Parts: sequence; C-alpha cells; structure tokens
Amino acid sequence: MGKVLEKKRLNEFLSKVSKGGDLIAPVKRDTLRFEIVKDFNDICLEGRPLFPVKKFFSPAKEDLFNLNLTNKNKPFDEEKIKLKPRVIFGGRLCDFNGLLKLDKLFLSEEYQDDYYKLARENTLLLGINCDPAPSEYCFCESMDLEKYYDLFFHDMGDKYYIEAGSEKGKTLIIDLEDYDFTIPSIKCEKKLYTKDISKYYDDSAWDKENDKCLSCGKCTAHCTTCLCFDMIDELEADVKHGKRFKEWDSCQFLNFTEVAGGAIFRKDRINRFKHRIYHKLQYFREKFDMDMCTGCGRCIESCPRLIDFTEVINNFKD
Ligand code: SF4
Ligand code: SF4
Repeated sequence: MGKVLEKKRLNEFLSKVSKGGDLIAPVKRDTLRFEIVKDFNDICLEGRPLFPVKKFFSPAKEDLFNLNLTNKNKPFDEEKIKLKPRVIFGGRLCDFNGLLKLDKLFLSEEYQDDYYKLARENTLLLGINCDPAPSEYCFCESMDLEKYYDLFFHDMGDKYYIEAGSEKGKTLIIDLEDYDFTIPSIKCEKKLYTKDISKYYDDSAWDKENDKCLSCGKCTAHCTTCLCFDMIDELEADVKHGKRFKEWDSCQFLNFTEVAGGAIFRKDRINRFKHRIYHKLQYFREKFDMDMCTGCGRCIESCPRLIDFTEVINNFKD
C-alpha cells in the first residue's frame, strides 16, 4: 500500500520536502540535465537525462586539500566539506541503482570516501517510474534492478502513486492519503540476452566494434556507474603552495594503467574496450555479487561511433 498525491500539489510537496536545502531535478536546457532547480516550471520529466546523477556524489573534479609549506603549523589544509541537504526528484530506477553500485565501492567497510558519504547522507532520492521506457537505448529490464530510493513516483494521469523505499521516505508521505495501485513493470525494446560473457573474451566479434572505437572515454563519462578517478598533485612555481584534487578518469584512455617507469598494462585498445564491458558484467559481480551495469543505455546513446555492446553480446553464438 502506497500513497497518492494530486499532480497539482506536486510543487507544494517538493517545496516542503526540500525546504532549507537544494532540489535537484531534470531541467531542459540545451539538453535535458539534472540541475539545482531555481524555478519549478523548469522541471521536465519527459525523457531520461543523458548525464547521470553521479556528479552530485562524485564530482568530475573535487579539491581534497591545499598545501602551504610556509605555514609550519598547518601545511595541509583540508577542504572543508560544506553541503546543504538535497533532494533529487525525477531520478530513474537506473540512476538510483547506479548509486547502489557506487555505494558498494565508496562506502565499503574497508574504505570509505568521506566526501561521498556526506553527499549520500545528505540527499533524499525521489524517483519516477519509466512507463514507457524513456529511450530506445534503455535495457534496464534485463538488469535486475532493485528498489533503491526513498520515494518512487508513478504517473497516474492527474495523480502520482507514491511508494516509500526507506523509513525516511515513509515519514515524508505520512500525511498523504493511502492508495492501492498495481505497478506496471518497465518494458524496454532493447534487451541483453546474456550477462555471462566469461567464455567470449577471445571472440573475434569484439574486434569489429573495437576497430570503430576512438578511446574517447565518452561512454565512461556518461555512464551511471563508472567511478574511476585519478588523484593529482598540483604544485605552484614556488614549490611551497599547491593542492591535491581528484578527477574522473577513464579506463578507455591509454595512460589509465600507466605506472612509474612508463609501463602500460592495457596498451592495446581492444583490451581497454573489453575491460569496460567485463568490469560491468563480470569483475564487479565477482567482487560484489551484482552487475555494475544498470541498463541505462547512456554509453550507447553518447558513443560517437554508435557502439552498442549489447548487440555484440546478443550475437554471440555458443
Ligand atoms: S564512447 Fe564509443 S568511441 Fe568513445 S571510448 Fe566509448 S566505445 Fe569507444
Ligand atoms: S555500461 Fe552503459 S548501460 Fe551500463 S550503466 Fe554504464 S552507461 Fe548505463
């Protein structure tokens, strides 16, 4: 049993739950993108933004500390993390499942990323169902997504049916009227027929797609779950001041696996190309018992060479 909210009361509801913080939602600019909402009229729920929400949790560039060797008492000045409470509205199930994968890594028992943790603890996730699938590139139906959100909205015409997925979520809708609704399952035209690709690593079908690949890294930048980063130390000319920052990296770049002495572990593009797919469907599963891919289709939609890894996999013959 969930709750019901009339559409005409949506803005009032969002303004109440985001009071004192930021509301982030899909907004139509040059393209549809998640942004801090300045005007409720800007919110656009048609389509799935090409850029995922990961930038609000693991930004493309993030300063970690400043170096000042002239200050003997405090040579390292850690960036103070300042974050208002935030509500993300209009994320899709693939977006929030993407965060589930990032949580596995950044909130693991062994190693926690304090910046990521703070961002997660300060953000409520209010999702919206895809009915129908918002793009021809989506194949989330094949990816066993989990109910991972605080609230999830289902469009019923002039009303929203709202499911709670957490205790925090339940308190947000406690005052709304109870409602019963049969939730439609997501239907995608595109499918991934097998996720077990272990025996296909040496199949020549990869070569054809690899020949098209530019190693540009667009697929990883747009990916809902790609989380690799580099740590960079930048020194000023006086060699006394500088800073350390974190920046997104991509396994598609030649220097991604470069180590001291100049050795590169994945020098051939084919190995980098296959690494991305095998990380999504095999290596992550071996470690965390789940796929890393959410079937959002962003890597396919953003690829300048129209490379679609689902087609390669679907055409493998036993
Ligand atoms: S976006 Fe396409 S061309 Fe660019 S690295 Fe990824 S697969 Fe290759
Ligand atoms: S690999 Fe592609 S389909 Fe899978 S989560 Fe990343 S962008 Fe989405």
